[in-house]
Amino acid sequence: MSSTVRTPEEIAARVKALESMLIESGVMTTQAIDRMVEIYENEVGPQLGAQVVVRAWTDPAFKARLVADASEACKELGISGLQGEDMVVVENTEAVHNVIVCTLCSCYPWPVLGLPPNWYKDPQYRAAITREPRKVLRESFGFTVPDDVEVRVWDSSSEMRYWVLPQRPAGTEGWSDEQLLALVTRDAMIGVGPVGAVA
Ligand code: FE
Repeated sequence: MSSTVRTPEEIAARVKALESMLIESGVMTTQAIDRMVEIYENEVGPQLGAQVVVRAWTDPAFKARLVADASEACKELGISGLQGEDMVVVENTEAVHNVIVCTLCSCYPWPVLGLPPNWYKDPQYRAAITREPRKVLRESFGFTVPDDVEVRVWDSSSEMRYWVLPQRPAGTEGWSDEQLLALVTRDAMIGVGPVGAVA
Protein backbone atom coordinates (compact mmCIF):
# COMPACT_ATOMS: atom_id res chain seq x y z
CA MET A 1 0.00 0.00 0.00
CA SER A 2 1.28 3.40 -0.90
CA SER A 3 0.81 6.18 1.64
CA THR A 4 1.48 8.99 -0.82
CA VAL A 5 -0.34 12.18 0.07
CA ARG A 6 -2.26 13.39 -2.96
CA THR A 7 -3.22 16.93 -3.80
CA PRO A 8 -6.90 17.78 -4.40
CA GLU A 9 -6.03 18.17 -8.09
CA GLU A 10 -4.61 14.63 -8.25
CA ILE A 11 -7.66 13.26 -6.47
CA ALA A 12 -9.97 15.16 -8.82
CA ALA A 13 -8.12 13.74 -11.84
CA ARG A 14 -8.49 10.22 -10.48
CA VAL A 15 -12.18 10.73 -9.79
CA LYS A 16 -12.65 12.02 -13.32
CA ALA A 17 -10.86 8.97 -14.74
CA LEU A 18 -12.98 6.65 -12.62
CA GLU A 19 -16.13 8.45 -13.69
CA SER A 20 -15.23 8.05 -17.40
CA MET A 21 -14.53 4.37 -16.85
CA LEU A 22 -17.89 3.80 -15.15
CA ILE A 23 -19.76 5.60 -17.91
CA GLU A 24 -17.91 3.85 -20.72
CA SER A 25 -18.43 0.43 -19.18
CA GLY A 26 -22.14 1.18 -18.79
CA VAL A 27 -22.08 0.79 -15.01
CA MET A 28 -23.35 4.31 -14.51
CA THR A 29 -24.89 7.10 -16.54
CA THR A 30 -23.83 10.72 -16.52
CA GLN A 31 -27.24 11.60 -15.06
CA ALA A 32 -26.75 9.20 -12.17
CA ILE A 33 -23.37 10.70 -11.41
CA ASP A 34 -24.74 14.25 -11.64
CA ARG A 35 -27.49 13.29 -9.23
CA MET A 36 -24.97 11.84 -6.77
CA VAL A 37 -22.88 14.97 -6.93
CA GLU A 38 -26.02 17.03 -6.35
CA ILE A 39 -26.86 14.96 -3.30
CA TYR A 40 -23.42 15.56 -1.84
CA GLU A 41 -23.56 19.28 -2.68
CA ASN A 42 -27.00 20.01 -1.31
CA GLU A 43 -28.22 17.23 0.91
CA VAL A 44 -25.96 14.74 2.68
CA GLY A 45 -22.97 17.01 3.15
CA PRO A 46 -24.56 20.20 4.49
CA GLN A 47 -26.88 18.23 6.78
CA LEU A 48 -23.88 17.12 8.79
CA GLY A 49 -22.70 20.71 9.12
CA ALA A 50 -26.21 21.69 10.18
CA GLN A 51 -26.11 19.10 12.98
CA VAL A 52 -22.89 20.64 14.24
CA VAL A 53 -24.40 24.13 14.11
CA VAL A 54 -27.51 23.07 16.04
CA ARG A 55 -25.39 21.39 18.69
CA ALA A 56 -23.37 24.61 19.02
CA TRP A 57 -26.58 26.66 19.30
CA THR A 58 -27.91 24.45 22.07
CA ASP A 59 -24.75 23.53 24.00
CA PRO A 60 -22.44 26.44 24.91
CA ALA A 61 -19.64 24.14 26.09
CA PHE A 62 -19.68 22.36 22.73
CA LYS A 63 -19.68 25.70 20.93
CA ALA A 64 -16.56 26.73 22.85
CA ARG A 65 -14.84 23.50 21.85
CA LEU A 66 -15.98 23.92 18.24
CA VAL A 67 -14.57 27.42 17.95
CA ALA A 68 -11.34 26.31 19.66
CA ASP A 69 -10.78 23.24 17.46
CA ALA A 70 -13.46 22.46 14.91
CA SER A 71 -12.00 19.18 13.63
CA GLU A 72 -11.74 17.75 17.14
CA ALA A 73 -15.21 18.94 18.16
CA CYS A 74 -16.76 17.45 15.01
CA LYS A 75 -15.22 14.10 15.86
CA GLU A 76 -17.35 14.10 19.03
CA LEU A 77 -20.36 13.89 16.71
CA GLY A 78 -18.73 11.21 14.58
CA ILE A 79 -17.99 13.67 11.79
CA SER A 80 -14.51 13.57 10.28
CA GLY A 81 -12.74 12.54 7.14
CA LEU A 82 -10.92 13.59 4.03
CA GLN A 83 -10.49 17.37 3.68
CA GLY A 84 -11.70 17.88 7.23
CA GLU A 85 -8.55 17.38 9.24
CA ASP A 86 -7.92 21.07 9.58
CA MET A 87 -11.27 22.84 9.86
CA VAL A 88 -11.68 26.22 11.48
CA VAL A 89 -15.10 27.54 12.45
CA VAL A 90 -15.61 31.29 12.40
CA GLU A 91 -18.53 32.53 14.44
CA ASN A 92 -20.95 35.20 13.27
CA THR A 93 -21.91 37.79 15.88
CA GLU A 94 -23.99 40.96 16.02
CA ALA A 95 -20.89 42.83 14.89
CA VAL A 96 -19.20 40.46 12.44
CA HIS A 97 -20.40 38.46 9.45
CA ASN A 98 -18.01 35.85 8.03
CA VAL A 99 -17.71 34.53 4.48
CA ILE A 100 -15.45 31.79 3.15
CA VAL A 101 -13.62 31.40 -0.13
CA CYS A 102 -10.57 29.65 -1.51
CA THR A 103 -8.86 32.21 -3.72
CA LEU A 104 -6.32 29.68 -4.97
CA CYS A 105 -8.56 26.77 -5.93
CA SER A 106 -11.58 25.28 -4.15
CA CYS A 107 -10.58 24.19 -0.63
CA TYR A 108 -13.73 23.40 1.31
CA PRO A 109 -14.61 21.45 4.47
CA TRP A 110 -16.00 18.29 2.86
CA PRO A 111 -17.08 16.38 6.00
CA VAL A 112 -19.50 19.12 7.08
CA LEU A 113 -20.53 20.78 3.81
CA GLY A 114 -20.13 18.03 1.23
CA LEU A 115 -18.86 19.00 -2.21
CA PRO A 116 -18.42 22.66 -3.07
CA PRO A 117 -21.05 24.16 -5.39
CA ASN A 118 -19.81 25.17 -8.83
CA TRP A 119 -19.95 28.89 -8.12
CA TYR A 120 -17.55 28.38 -5.19
CA LYS A 121 -14.95 27.14 -7.67
CA ASP A 122 -15.65 29.96 -10.13
CA PRO A 123 -12.69 32.38 -10.55
CA GLN A 124 -15.23 35.21 -10.62
CA TYR A 125 -16.50 34.45 -7.09
CA ARG A 126 -13.00 33.75 -5.81
CA ALA A 127 -11.67 37.10 -6.98
CA ALA A 128 -14.68 39.31 -6.33
CA ILE A 129 -15.66 38.14 -2.85
CA THR A 130 -12.32 39.26 -1.38
CA ARG A 131 -12.42 42.60 -3.18
CA GLU A 132 -16.02 43.64 -2.69
CA PRO A 133 -17.71 41.16 -0.38
CA ARG A 134 -20.81 43.27 0.37
CA LYS A 135 -21.43 43.91 -3.30
CA VAL A 136 -21.02 40.23 -4.24
CA LEU A 137 -23.29 39.10 -1.42
CA ARG A 138 -25.93 41.60 -2.47
CA GLU A 139 -25.73 41.26 -6.24
CA SER A 140 -24.90 37.56 -6.67
CA PHE A 141 -26.72 36.12 -3.66
CA GLY A 142 -29.40 38.70 -2.86
CA PHE A 143 -28.05 38.84 0.67
CA THR A 144 -27.61 42.22 2.32
CA VAL A 145 -25.34 42.54 5.34
CA PRO A 146 -26.26 45.63 7.42
CA ASP A 147 -23.75 48.50 7.14
CA ASP A 148 -22.93 48.36 10.85
CA VAL A 149 -21.86 44.72 10.59
CA GLU A 150 -18.25 44.11 9.56
CA VAL A 151 -17.77 41.53 6.78
CA ARG A 152 -14.73 39.29 7.14
CA VAL A 153 -13.60 37.07 4.29
CA TRP A 154 -11.61 33.93 5.17
CA ASP A 155 -9.34 32.48 2.51
CA SER A 156 -9.18 28.72 2.88
CA SER A 157 -6.26 26.54 1.94
CA SER A 158 -5.44 22.88 2.23
CA GLU A 159 -4.03 23.64 5.69
CA MET A 160 -6.99 25.68 6.93
CA ARG A 161 -10.55 25.00 5.85
CA TYR A 162 -12.89 27.63 7.21
CA TRP A 163 -16.64 27.48 7.60
CA VAL A 164 -19.19 29.69 9.29
CA LEU A 165 -21.17 29.25 12.46
CA PRO A 166 -24.26 31.38 11.82
CA GLN A 167 -26.10 33.10 14.65
CA ARG A 168 -29.09 31.37 16.14
CA PRO A 169 -32.07 33.47 15.10
CA ALA A 170 -34.13 35.26 17.73
CA GLY A 171 -37.50 33.72 18.41
CA THR A 172 -36.26 30.13 18.36
CA GLU A 173 -36.14 29.61 22.11
CA GLY A 174 -37.49 26.20 23.02
CA TRP A 175 -37.35 24.90 19.45
CA SER A 176 -36.57 21.23 18.91
CA ASP A 177 -33.36 20.15 17.20
CA GLU A 178 -35.41 19.18 14.13
CA GLN A 179 -36.93 22.64 13.89
CA LEU A 180 -33.52 24.26 14.28
CA LEU A 181 -31.91 21.92 11.73
CA ALA A 182 -34.35 23.07 9.10
CA LEU A 183 -33.05 26.63 9.48
CA VAL A 184 -29.40 25.87 8.77
CA THR A 185 -28.65 26.21 5.08
CA ARG A 186 -25.46 25.38 3.24
CA ASP A 187 -25.19 28.99 2.11
CA ALA A 188 -25.41 30.19 5.71
CA MET A 189 -22.42 27.99 6.57
CA ILE A 190 -20.48 29.43 3.62
CA GLY A 191 -21.58 32.90 4.65
CA VAL A 192 -23.31 33.87 1.40
CA GLY A 193 -26.84 33.54 2.73
CA PRO A 194 -28.99 33.84 5.84
CA VAL A 195 -30.32 31.02 7.98
CA GLY A 196 -33.91 30.16 7.24
CA ALA A 197 -36.69 32.51 8.24
CA VAL A 198 -38.35 32.02 11.60
CA ALA A 199 -42.04 31.73 10.84
FE1 FE B 1 -8.26 25.56 -2.53
